[in-house]
Amino acid sequence: MMPISYEGDVFRPPSEARSLILQATIGCSHNRCTFCAMYKRKKYRARPLAEINRDIVTAAAYLPHTRRVFLADGNALAVATADLVAILDQLNKAFPLLERITLYGNPQDLLQKSEDELKELCDHRLKMIYLGVESGSAAVLEAVKKGVTPADLVKGAAKLKKAGIPLSVTVLNGLAGLEGSVEHARSTAKFLSEMDPEYIGLLSLITVPGTTMHRRFKSGELTALSPWQLLEEIRMMVEGLTLTNSIFRANHASNYLPLKATLSRDKQLLLTALDRIIAERSPATLKSEFMRGL
Ligand code: SF4
Repeated sequence: MMPISYEGDVFRPPSEARSLILQATIGCSHNRCTFCAMYKRKKYRARPLAEINRDIVTAAAYLPHTRRVFLADGNALAVATADLVAILDQLNKAFPLLERITLYGNPQDLLQKSEDELKELCDHRLKMIYLGVESGSAAVLEAVKKGVTPADLVKGAAKLKKAGIPLSVTVLNGLAGLEGSVEHARSTAKFLSEMDPEYIGLLSLITVPGTTMHRRFKSGELTALSPWQLLEEIRMMVEGLTLTNSIFRANHASNYLPLKATLSRDKQLLLTALDRIIAERSPATLKSEFMRGL
């Protein structure tokens, strides 16, 4: 039996650590964000269904009790809906205990799917889309070449809600440098409150050599935030959030301080804890630099 095939580096969200990872696509269909180097060495393509099916058959032979599957690479939502449904069908047939299938979505590809298409995907057990929104500031989104506006993102989120697919968004702490920190925090809080996603994942910016973002910081055009300034930015964001029932997590390897809260319930607790930590400025509270990563 052929082994499951993986091409290049494969990434997944922290919450998919126990999931079976299968590549439905190679690379990212957008691949232009100025801070991101994850798929720079890959030319985007959807993998042929026959190849994916072969991987599913292999995985089912070795891991028949699989409950969770994450479809990589950067943007499996870009796959044509009929093909995506065929992949989901295969997975549902191969794994009798399967509970959920999840994937990364790119905002443009989300906007291209109709509500009916999204409903169909939900009916085939697509139970979460991870969407990198990065910021709620139109200026920041334009500067990092995200390719969408905050209004587009809110529209995409509303479509997912109607289709019944939970949404997990990621935002990037420190993305606008010290110069844009207040605007980034306030606009992101306002925008997330409008979007009201089920999950919010906060990552801290680590600039990668070779990217435009790295050059902007190196040249002095943008100033990197200190760990304490990053926490102040998070505090500002949290303060501005009004959400129904979102779970907020900053438990990525890039974060200096792991945080988790259900924001409708724990917002004040989180703000109080952040105030204390920021006031104490004890280096022992923070993850050391060498422990951080992407
Ligand atoms: S859409 Fe996501 S994976 Fe693609 S370039 Fe932007 S941040 Fe990277």
